[in-house]
Amino acid sequence: MKLAIVSESPADEIAIRVLVESVLGQQVRLVTPTLRARGWPNVAQVLPAIVRHLHFNTDADGVVVVVDSDDTIVHNAAHDAPGYFHPRCRLCHLRAVFRQATKRLPPARGRARVLRAVGVAVPAVEAWYLCGRDERVTEAVWTGGQERGVMPYTRGELKWRVYGTDRPSLSLEIDCALQEVARHRKDTRQLESDFPGFASLAADLREWGRRKSE
Ligand SMILES: [Zn+2]
Repeated sequence: MKLAIVSESPADEIAIRVLVESVLGQQVRLVTPTLRARGWPNVAQVLPAIVRHLHFNTDADGVVVVVDSDDTIVHNAAHDAPGYFHPRCRLCHLRAVFRQATKRLPPARGRARVLRAVGVAVPAVEAWYLCGRDERVTEAVWTGGQERGVMPYTRGELKWRVYGTDRPSLSLEIDCALQEVARHRKDTRQLESDFPGFASLAADLREWGRRKSE
């Protein structure tokens, strides 16, 4: 499988690759997306150009996009209703951007379109990194806090728990992220159950496997 990973930082992209390979059960080859996205809303802004580039100029099978939710509305099953999308949900937003970007593309390089897998880390990718190490950090804990108006933790606190600082250097960020995702190298079920925003990504990736084998 050949794919591009688009996320908010180079460290995230390295760690997400490990999780993607765990879900797919195979090593992947990375295709450079040409443009680098840094943070939200930049990811959504550059995604259409990245999708066009991958479609016409590369033989990538698909693109993996992962962003942090920060304080936005968290995706839920109600958003998956046909024809619906929540304007303040980043998962819905990125799916819509992708849909729009691929709508009128003619087939290229023997395929109708590049595939997409979208995940949203709630509230930030450091929460995924803590999965299996800190059971107080889950998507349900965060959305429960949103409903009550009392947040269970901040993004800065999650960074402290993962990196021991809220301003890690890039190399520290990569080392810590790789150490944490190693727990899920063979099995992502806990991550999928604690973080539906990761389960969405995993479901998209498994769909790729089905399409490729057709
Ligand atoms: Zn949504």
